[in-house]
Amino acid sequence: MPIHLTADDAREPPPDWKRMLWRGFTRRCPRCGERRVFRTWWSIKERCPRCGMAFIREEGYFTGVYLLNLALVLAVLFVMAIAFAIWLSENPGASLVPALLVGALVAVVLPVVGYPFARTTWAALDLLMTPMELDEIAEAAAIEVDGFPADDGPPADDGGLAGDDDVEPDADD
Ligand SMILES: [Zn+2]
Repeated sequence: MPIHLTADDAREPPPDWKRMLWRGFTRRCPRCGERRVFRTWWSIKERCPRCGMAFIREEGYFTGVYLLNLALVLAVLFVMAIAFAIWLSENPGASLVPALLVGALVAVVLPVVGYPFARTTWAALDLLMTPMELDEIAEAAAIEVDGFPADDGPPADDGGLAGDDDVEPDADD
């Protein structure tokens, strides 16, 4: 099926930033709100099964996800430490061990639980900072038209390496 792109595709109106961030916070595709964007808890699909947007847009993409996840954990631990300090001032002589254990548990569990949320939130931030180029929009539209399998397994078991950098510009010389 041929793709008919119009000028409107190039002027895709950006969804408003609050909606995009909210979609990211709630583990959805920031562009269209699709929920089924993860294969497993840890593994995001290469592209959104609904709108075709690529979730890995450039090298170094994961640094932002890890920083976001780290910031989340540090923020939660900071709040817990403040709350514990207040509680301790009213209960002098209480043992530190339970608080340290809870803190350690949070530090281990929260990044695991929070990862997919950080992943889609970062995708939303990235999309806000760097709106999709026309070729990305066209590529996403092509995937959508071809019916990227949303429910079945991955179409080709190449580990997702083949499709990453196939937009090589023609040699200039
Ligand atoms: Zn989408």
